Amino acid sequence: MKVIISGAGPVGLTTALALAREGIAVTVLERAAELATDLRASTWHPPTLDMMGELGLVDEILRDGLIARTFQVRDRQTGAIAEFDMGLLKGETDHPYRVQYEQFRFTQLVASRLAAFPHATLVFNAKVASVSQDPQHIRVTTEDGTVHEADWLIGSDGAYSSVRSALGIEFPGLTFPERFFVVSTPFPFEDHLNRLSYVNYVADIDEWCVLLKVPGLWRCLFPTSEESDEEVLASGERRLQGVFPKAEPYETRHKTLYRVHQRVAETYRKGRGFLAGDAAHLNNPIGGMGMNGGLHDGLNLAGKLIELNRTGADRLAEYEPERRPVAVEHINATTARNREVLAERDPVARKRKQDELCRTAEDPVAAKAYLMKSSMINTLRRAA
Ligand SMILES: Cc1cc2nc3c(=O)[nH]c(=O)nc-3n(C[C@H](O)[C@H](O)[C@H](O)COP(=O)(O)OP(=O)(O)OC[C@H]3O[C@@H](n4cnc5c(N)ncnc54)[C@H](O)[C@@H]3O)c2cc1C
Repeated sequence: MKVIISGAGPVGLTTALALAREGIAVTVLERAAELATDLRASTWHPPTLDMMGELGLVDEILRDGLIARTFQVRDRQTGAIAEFDMGLLKGETDHPYRVQYEQFRFTQLVASRLAAFPHATLVFNAKVASVSQDPQHIRVTTEDGTVHEADWLIGSDGAYSSVRSALGIEFPGLTFPERFFVVSTPFPFEDHLNRLSYVNYVADIDEWCVLLKVPGLWRCLFPTSEESDEEVLASGERRLQGVFPKAEPYETRHKTLYRVHQRVAETYRKGRGFLAGDAAHLNNPIGGMGMNGGLHDGLNLAGKLIELNRTGADRLAEYEPERRPVAVEHINATTARNREVLAERDPVARKRKQDELCRTAEDPVAAKAYLMKSSMINTLRRAA
């Protein structure tokens, strides 16, 4: 069996590694000249860590990441804190915690592992331009005119997927009105803000935010209205002073401004071509489900290709019904609800939501049920 994967993001590379470990020939085509180094995903959920354990990657993730045993939903005005204890998931997962570990470190780790397999190739400067297929094969032509042929193609080439376009698959959904602005600082917020976890969702009438710790940095995410790019990028100091006021200016490291979409591809498969990860679904980052969900797609699909290669049993038709509803009913619904909780402007409704979350967090049975959903364990069990 030979598989082509378009895109060397976390989903493409991890899917490639899973296939290569089983002796399947795999070629990853990456548009860029090197792996991306920008700050994107950082939150790893328990079942994703379990999967990384099976791939022999989890020791490095735990060594280089930060273990978050709790996460919080806070209210900036009232100071109320709903703190969820991930330890309640003991017995459901080998990793009853979240890990804060940056996506760019992960892709470098996976690419280094992939390099050990002679039947796995990672080609840079190889932008997929067109796709054609017949009942036996699928062919990909890159921008420089090179043609690659394989049994299967996986489009994990991100939000603007060329594979999705080439296969003629629509990507309906919406774009959120606000843009998201991430600014990072080495300032130790944990020494100054009461009981801060490594993952904190902070509700506020004027400016909600998400505070995430990664090794050496706090990443602070804010919504922005339609200001110019320059105005938003210059607002980092004001926004950080809003999180914790201090006399000296903040030292900042990275600033990222981006649009957020909520979209799901109308189908995840056309013939011998599949979609996985951001190419198949996009959501807002509140809850940390984009990359995690994408990895769950890629490894589900890899499992079916491995089974087909080993035994001849073709369960590829089950990929879409197992994974697409997760994006629609769980990932998009949950991340949209998370955004609503943080952005609620009506003080009565906000207090009601926060009180409800505090009651849930304090009741071990209700908290565990909440964590089974927010950790994406339920969706994987349902598909299984
Ligand atoms: C600020 C931010 C924070 C986030 N936080 C989290 C989080 O905490 N947890 C979480 O789970 N998710 C998070 N996400 C989402 C997460 O980053 C994405 O879901 C993830 O990157 C998707 O991985 P992917 O491999 O599907 O796509 P990508 O990472 O987008 O990779 C796609 C790759 O395909 C390549 N490519 C594109 N077009 C072509 C082509 N035509 N030919 C060949 N190659 C091509 C690109 O260069 C890229 O390398 C966050 C996103 C942002 C922006």
